[in-house]
Amino acid sequence: MKVVVVGAGIVGLTTALALVRAGHQVILIDRRREVASEASHGNAGWLGPHMPDPWFEADLSSPWLGKPWRRGAPVSWRPRLQWSQWRWLWQYRRSHGVDLAQLHQSRLSRLLHYSHALREQWQSSHQLELELNQGTLQLIRSPRQWERLNQWVAGNPQDPKAQHLELLDLPALRIAEPALSIVPALAGAARWKDDATANCALAARHLKSQCEQAGVSIRTREVVRALLIEGGRVVGVATENGPWRGDGVVLCAGMDCLPLLRQVKAKLPLQTIHGFSATVNLAPDARGLQHAVLELETMLTMTPLSGRVRISGGFHLDRRTGALPAPAVRHLMNQAADWLPGAARYSDATYWYGQRVMTPDGLPLLGPARTPGLWLNTGHGHWGFGLAWGSAHVLADMISGQTPAIAVDGLTADRY
Ligand SMILES: Cc1cc2nc3c(=O)[nH]c(=O)nc-3n(C[C@H](O)[C@H](O)[C@H](O)COP(=O)(O)OP(=O)(O)OC[C@H]3O[C@@H](n4cnc5c(N)ncnc54)[C@H](O)[C@@H]3O)c2cc1C
Repeated sequence: MKVVVVGAGIVGLTTALALVRAGHQVILIDRRREVASEASHGNAGWLGPHMPDPWFEADLSSPWLGKPWRRGAPVSWRPRLQWSQWRWLWQYRRSHGVDLAQLHQSRLSRLLHYSHALREQWQSSHQLELELNQGTLQLIRSPRQWERLNQWVAGNPQDPKAQHLELLDLPALRIAEPALSIVPALAGAARWKDDATANCALAARHLKSQCEQAGVSIRTREVVRALLIEGGRVVGVATENGPWRGDGVVLCAGMDCLPLLRQVKAKLPLQTIHGFSATVNLAPDARGLQHAVLELETMLTMTPLSGRVRISGGFHLDRRTGALPAPAVRHLMNQAADWLPGAARYSDATYWYGQRVMTPDGLPLLGPARTPGLWLNTGHGHWGFGLAWGSAHVLADMISGQTPAIAVDGLTADRY
């Protein structure tokens, strides 16, 4: 088949590669000069797959909707007179009841594990440099949460999750992560020793050259303005350089899938959640982090990259512009400096502003849209890097008429 893929972020690139390797002819189109110039550029780089996503924790959902007006809050939301925003929030609340949140967490985990295995295979067979770091830490301040976690581990020694988890009290944490300034208010840390982080933009560059070598036609600086529809079927896309026809079109264009989907009267609940990162060089002779670190209460992450650390955070539903939210950024940088005093040159940070596209249940939209010839691979929320390889293979299997290697219930677009 001839397939047109719209969007060359990490999701579009992995999709194009999986499709060309499955024997299809692929055109990959992006409006930017370089691939991975939007959400896939400066993200925190967490790949999972074992750490449960705190987004799905039922007790996180209420604070983040409950105190979003606090200055510098990591999560913010200001009501707008916009039906789609209210509908999304309502659907979000509905899908975060305790049982449903667990179900969504388990679906996310299935796809993340699959993706992790495929990414490892891809990376090791090509010996690629991705600034990969093994091991993540969740810092836990609440004594109650720490107590609960200890009880769970003691009561579930055979649970596969427990086998990847180590609980570090403060003396153990000091040994495991000497660069970190341990504040007295900390209760302990959960270490996910087999979880990884890497540089998403670097992965995208490797994928781009592999796509080119495999024969994908990559067209950058070309905006897809419309879908071509004939006899109720999507048969290609229109750009300023002419129509590109194919047997199938895959949308990997983040939030910009929506105007294209409107053409086929599809209304999918996608919401932009804005965030940012700051990448700082380590100070000379400073000890870098051994692990990537997540501070649960503020959702601050610190990811080690070679000679640098990337500080990331922010979940903002309210932003209308692409500007960095100055108070939240300042707050985040001050916190990072508290955790890693003197380790990095905070005044020389390179800032990045990004938008993740999220569905109310936090799971991607994968597979066929209702209109024949149209396929979706988007809505990965804050796990697009971790999920990219798995989503791409699931989609390539579906387009090739094969059964995907994992169950896809709850991941396909027909749930909305
Ligand atoms: C602050 C922050 C931290 C994050 N941390 C992590 C993390 O630790 N781990 C993780 O897994 N994920 C993380 N994410 C999420 C992750 O970055 C995204 O899920 C992922 O990058 C999405 O990839 P994508 O290819 O779908 O989108 P994008 O990278 O945005 O790619 C979409 C592409 O489509 C192109 N496009 C759009 N419309 C058109 C059009 N009409 N014509 C042509 N081209 C078009 C755009 O130019 C763009 O290149 C984070 C996100 C943010 C904001």
